[in-house]
Parts: sequence; C-alpha cells; structure tokens
Amino acid sequence: MNLDEIKASETKLLLPTYERNPIFFVGGENVYLIAEDGQRYLDLLSGIGVNALGYGHPAIVNTIAEQSRKLIHISNLYFHEGQAQLALKLTAASGLDRAFFCNSGTEAWEAALKLARAHAGLKRSEGQHIGTKFLALENSFHGRTMGAVATTHKEKYREPFAPVMPDVEFVRFNDVDCLKDKFSQDVCAVLIEVIQGEGGIRPVSQEFFATARELTESTGALLICDEIQAGLGRTGKWFSYQHYGIQPDVTTLAKPIAGGLPLGVMLCTEEAARAIHPGMHGTTFGGGPLACAVAMSVIHTIEQEHLLKHVTDIGNYFKDRLSELAKKHPAILDVRGLGLMLAIELDSADLAKQAVAEMLKRRILINRTSETVLRFLPPYILQQAHIDETIDALDEIFCDNAPHTAASSPTGAKANG
Ligand SMILES: *Cc1c(COP(=O)(O)O)cnc(C)c1O
Repeated sequence: MNLDEIKASETKLLLPTYERNPIFFVGGENVYLIAEDGQRYLDLLSGIGVNALGYGHPAIVNTIAEQSRKLIHISNLYFHEGQAQLALKLTAASGLDRAFFCNSGTEAWEAALKLARAHAGLKRSEGQHIGTKFLALENSFHGRTMGAVATTHKEKYREPFAPVMPDVEFVRFNDVDCLKDKFSQDVCAVLIEVIQGEGGIRPVSQEFFATARELTESTGALLICDEIQAGLGRTGKWFSYQHYGIQPDVTTLAKPIAGGLPLGVMLCTEEAARAIHPGMHGTTFGGGPLACAVAMSVIHTIEQEHLLKHVTDIGNYFKDRLSELAKKHPAILDVRGLGLMLAIELDSADLAKQAVAEMLKRRILINRTSETVLRFLPPYILQQAHIDETIDALDEIFCDNAPHTAASSPTGAKANG
C-alpha cells in the first residue's frame, strides 16, 4: 500500500483518535527515521520519549532476537528471571523497595492509584484516620484509562467520559498555599509529575515539592511521582525527583524503559506494599520475559555508554543554544527543562503550529504541546551536530516569521527589539 491507500483505509476503518502527519515511515537508524521515499528525518521526539537509544541499537535488536527465540510470554502464574533482575536494578536506582510490572504508562499509574486507596484502607483498619481523596496538579497528564483521566487536569480528556473516578481535587501548579489549603486527613495521596510533560515541560518548584513531602509524611498519605516521561535517564538522572533530593513513596515508569516495547513499572516502599496481597491486582502480559530482557539491556546500555552524563552534557548544550535563540527572537518567551526533556514557549499557538510544520519540511521531527510550547524529547544518543542543525532550522523559521522580516536574517545579529 502507498500512503494515499493507507490513509483512505484508515479513514474508513480506524477509530478516529489521531490526526497523523502525512509521512509513512519504513525504517530507522540511530537518531533518524527513514520514510518510504528514502528521506531521513532527524527525530527529536523519539516516539514521544520512548526510543531513548534511537533506532536499530544493536543492544536492543540482539536482545529481542535472542530472547524471542527463548521465551516471549508465560503469564504471571510462573517464574522467569526477568522481573527479579529488573526489579533489583530499578529499586536500587529509585531508592524504593518493590516493583509491579505492567504494559503502559497509564497502567502503571492505575496501579499507583489503586495502591494508594488500598494503603489508606489498611491504615484505617489499623485505626488511623485517612481518607480516599487524591490531590492532583493543574496541567497534569497521567494517562487515558478511567482512573488516570480522573487525575488528568485538562477537561477535554475527562468530560466526554464522565463520570470519571470521584474524589480527585486539583491544586494550582506550584501554589504552596493552595496545596496547604486542600491537604487534609481526607487525602490518601498527592500526585506529582515532577516535570510536567504534556503540560508544557514545567518543573515543579522545590518548595512545592518539599511541602507535598512534609504534608504527606505528617498524615501517612503517599507522595506519588509520575516519572513516565521524565524518568529513566531523560533528565540526566534515573528519576527526575533526584534533582530535588526528595524521595517519594511511589513512582511510575514506562515510556523509555523497554526500547520501544510496551512495559510499565510501579515502584513503591515496603510500607505502601503492605497493602497488597496475592489476587488483589494483576495483569496477563505485564513484565513478560521479552519486555524485561529488553529493559535490562536498555539499562545496561545507559550505564555502559555513560548516557546519564551524556544526556546532562548534551542537554545543557541544547538548552544553552535554545537560550541564545530566545535572546535573538522575541517570539520565544521561555526556555525550560532538564537534560533532554526541553521546550521553548512561543508567544502564539499559530506560530508554534507553523514551526512544527516548517521543521517537518526540513525533515526534523518535533511536536507542540500545551498550545504554545515546542517540545524536544530526542534519543539520549543525540550529538552536538544534530542540535546545531536544529538550532539553524529554528533560527531560519523564526526569522521568516518575525514581524519585521526585512530586518532579520538567519545569520543576522540580534533581532530588532
Ligand atoms: C505518556 C504519559 C502517561 C501515559 O502513558 P501511556 O503509556 O500513554 O499510557 C502518563 N503520565 C505521563 C507523565 C506521561 O507522559
């Protein structure tokens, strides 16, 4: 089938959940996706933060080949070696005690929500007063299943499916007083995406995060951090909460962990895990031998290739170059993020939309989130030359779209202020 035929069939046959870009990819190599016409696209989005090692990394390709010959799936009724090995790595990296494996981000988040409710129930049975309410943050995104959408702030994700899970209240982002006002013994967990991804690459403030930690500690409620986008090295540390020196009770991982295969993880403390006994929660596919083996090889590769340090260094370079660009182009209002989770906020949604389209014409993949924000979630193996190419392309686009085009040029000095 060619692109037109695929498009026509999809339009007729698929649930219309996506507006896809009109490119048809057939391969990938390193940080590039390869379209059916042979054109290579520099991928600064990596399948929405998934393809951390890029495309065709030998560690992933070989592990999939070897493990798929041995064993792909057995269910959670029997033992295989993958879950224990991976749990050992992830508990050591996170500072948490126990792991639950599932298949996606939203499922990891559901597990965390269920754990919080079960934990509060256990505490009540032990005579402590602790309620069932969740405090989530404005602009948060936690996934698409019924529990996860209930804790996701944007109404467009929740309202069509109402009534969603009750007992969720939203706290204004980084508003410490609002958090203090809404927190009480009725709360079973405070939910924090440490660096909001879909919400526009917005890091939580140290004070807000520390306050959430103090409040939850004071009642025995859980502090739950969603690291599905920011975790597993994307910010230069295994978990983005480690930049703050704050330890949550529960965290979730998914996107980059298994080299593009679906795998989600919830990690928690021994204390929280007390609430779970066999049969309470589970999954057919979660934590299968293939996904676990690939996750182990992703983690080994991050260690062996010193990618946490590389993400930090190359991320700093990228952010510095974006900041230079922001000084030159007044349309760039802000530069945000850590490591290779970066964004620039523009002064108009139209310009942001146009910039994504113009980048696509130059065969560079980025996306727009939160209307006015251009987001960069490239593979961890990105190199300086890719960043230079990206900055040049953005510079050209902002020059072409500047209000006083005549006074600006791609190579010109500071823009007319
Ligand atoms: C992507 C994402 C999710 C949902 O993950 P899925 O695998 O799409 O279900 C949840 N939380 C955050 C922060 C995410 O970025």
